[in-house]
Amino acid sequence: MGARRPFVGGNWKMNLHRAEATELAGNLARRLSGIEGVDVAVCPPFPYLAPVSEALAGGPVRLGAQDAYPEPNGAFTGEVSLSMLQDVGAGVVLAGHSERRHEIGEGDLLVNRKVRAALEAGMEVILCVGETLAQREAGQTHAINAAQLFYGLAGVGGEAIKRVTIAYEPVWAIGTGHTATPDDAQSAHAAIREALGRLAGESVAKRTRIQYGGSVKPSNAGEIFAQPDVDGGLIGGASLKEDDFVAIVEAAVG
Ligand code: PEP
Repeated sequence: MGARRPFVGGNWKMNLHRAEATELAGNLARRLSGIEGVDVAVCPPFPYLAPVSEALAGGPVRLGAQDAYPEPNGAFTGEVSLSMLQDVGAGVVLAGHSERRHEIGEGDLLVNRKVRAALEAGMEVILCVGETLAQREAGQTHAINAAQLFYGLAGVGGEAIKRVTIAYEPVWAIGTGHTATPDDAQSAHAAIREALGRLAGESVAKRTRIQYGGSVKPSNAGEIFAQPDVDGGLIGGASLKEDDFVAIVEAAVG
């Protein structure tokens, strides 16, 4: 994993209600309290950000949001602003998760507005990229990842880019039980890092963390995280299970 500090995110998606969410958060804060050498964040559903924030207080697990709207306020029914997220303690936000791209129909332009607005607000961003199965079978994996990276980071300048983490999440591996092999993950991550170098320079490419996401479990986390260009993971299903998530975080420490 090199000199980069690994980062493990738990994306709870549209799961858990208040009691389960706060219990999970409190238990993670307690069980991970002595952990070193890894950054950890969880992204609960919007209604539970505030109680989860309280349950995490004083512990090492940071609060993240699954999405945000790039405008500061106004007539945007159903949307949530970055300052609202910060108000309840969120310091990290996902952008361009494949479920938003493919289920909700979010395009690269909106993803880019979200990335830039979140960085301008002072937040950290996890920008998700990844190819569909059809794109993979057509040999387009690296091209799609590079395109989503370039669109997502367009207009993002020198200092702000330090607050960006990339999550490589092959769409065919998310929630499906299919995981990229460690070699496939490494090859995609190396290509993303190379593309980042072309976009933002070698030193940015070297220090930027690239998480892997797609059916990571305790049984496969170790071998995936051991790849030199994999810097932790973005975890969906397994982040809902306390023991599994703790084991995955521990695997990222190595
Ligand atoms: C995700 O939602 O980012 C994800 C990787 O999900 P899962 O771990 O369930 O495949």
